[in-house]
Amino acid sequence: MEALPVFLNVRGVRCLVAGGGEVALRKARLLARAGAGLQVVSPKISEPLGELARAHDGVCERRGIVEEDVAGACLVIAATDDSAVNENVSHWARQRGIPVNVVDQPALCSFFMPAIVDRSPIVVAISSSGASPVLTRNIKELNEIMLPARIDRLARLLGSKRGRVKRRIDDFAGRTVFWESVLDSGIPELVYAGRESEAAGEFDRLLEEARPPRGEVWLVGAGPGDPDLLSLRALRLMYRADVVLYDRLVSAEILARVRPDAELIHVGKGPEMHSADQYAINELLLQHAGKGRKVMRLKGGDPFIFGRGGEELITLAEAGVNFQIVPGITAASGCAAYAGIPLTHRDHAHSVEFLTGHLKDGSLDLDWPALIRHKHTLVFYMGLKSLPVVCGQLRRHGMAGTMPAAVVASGTTAGQQIVAGTLASLPELVEKGEIKPPAIIIVGEVVKLRGRLEWFRSSESGELSRHKN
Ligand code: SAH
Repeated sequence: MEALPVFLNVRGVRCLVAGGGEVALRKARLLARAGAGLQVVSPKISEPLGELARAHDGVCERRGIVEEDVAGACLVIAATDDSAVNENVSHWARQRGIPVNVVDQPALCSFFMPAIVDRSPIVVAISSSGASPVLTRNIKELNEIMLPARIDRLARLLGSKRGRVKRRIDDFAGRTVFWESVLDSGIPELVYAGRESEAAGEFDRLLEEARPPRGEVWLVGAGPGDPDLLSLRALRLMYRADVVLYDRLVSAEILARVRPDAELIHVGKGPEMHSADQYAINELLLQHAGKGRKVMRLKGGDPFIFGRGGEELITLAEAGVNFQIVPGITAASGCAAYAGIPLTHRDHAHSVEFLTGHLKDGSLDLDWPALIRHKHTLVFYMGLKSLPVVCGQLRRHGMAGTMPAAVVASGTTAGQQIVAGTLASLPELVEKGEIKPPAIIIVGEVVKLRGRLEWFRSSESGELSRHKN
């Protein structure tokens, strides 16, 4: 983050605006809306700006700005058209640690003014740290569209009830669950439809009936890495979880989308995980759910594909804990899509099979002859170490050395790497490329379609792009 977003209470506090034109007026309006004590200093001050200051018990001084003006202010905005004056104001303020914003001159600012969506008391502030004002405006528009017009009234209604809720439900977790149930109820819609007294009545009824929260476990697939591949439901639950137990494969970008005050617990499950570790995870799930918390078990890819999701669910079901399962995009689908390899194709593959390449005592216990089928794609998870074994065994059991095969590592992320070759050449290519896990191996005629599809993720920019070769 390039700057710390905060909401400053400037009610009754002296805020200095240097400048008297249109831009100064815009900034002064914002300050006035937040209840600031306005001091406008400039040789020329426009009529509307003068009026605004008067209407808010502010002062207008028609003269050049001096260092003392800045020294006595709590916040300074320079909006003059004289760059030397702007520079001086910035210098004087920064010397004293007084927050200063110089319009359109980021280098002279100690704080930036965000774009805002104002449905007070709900205020959304948006900044691109100067990178793209147009993008910022787009995001503002999106928020304007998404936020119901009467969300201010909903916020006021909820705010007016906080004291009562605190008296009725004495633990924090219980209150959180109650507030969530309010937002999930028909109350917001009643407020948005202008039926506020009905909404207030409904609120009181819900509060009367409030029970201690019941714990729940959500087994959620986080997809292969790109946060854009999270499902809407996964995202929604990520905002609601009290505690999140996550795997080694869940990326930092995805974890950043979890509610900030949720407890994050890393249960670094790797291919070498022992059943004792799995037992400890099951115990943790039960323990947290037993305290009435909403527990998210966040797993890479899909929880039911090489994710031991089934084992965790059986424990929960036996203990009578409520649970939900949210599927995720599994590594094979994500990697294949981002690498431009269709896993099935009418001409080249009529079926696809997901396997684990996890070695036990250096060998792989698979029914090799059954894997050698016409028009069939094989995808090996956890197979980087066993790549030579996989390629060797497939050839030994009759698959041609010329069969196309690829390894996709860190698929769908900015660090995605693809190495494509044949059963004969792939192990050496991968070793030379120093490919690191996580990676999957895709074997089948479909691999050669990759070039034809012209989709690829540039390894330099990490961006998904469409290029004509
Ligand atoms: N439940 C997960 C798989 C867990 S097993 C899923 O549905 O995807 C872990 C294996 O998944 C890794 O060893 C690797 O083979 C594969 N994998 C997970 N994320 C990957 C990624 N971003 N790129 C390539 N392979 C990945």
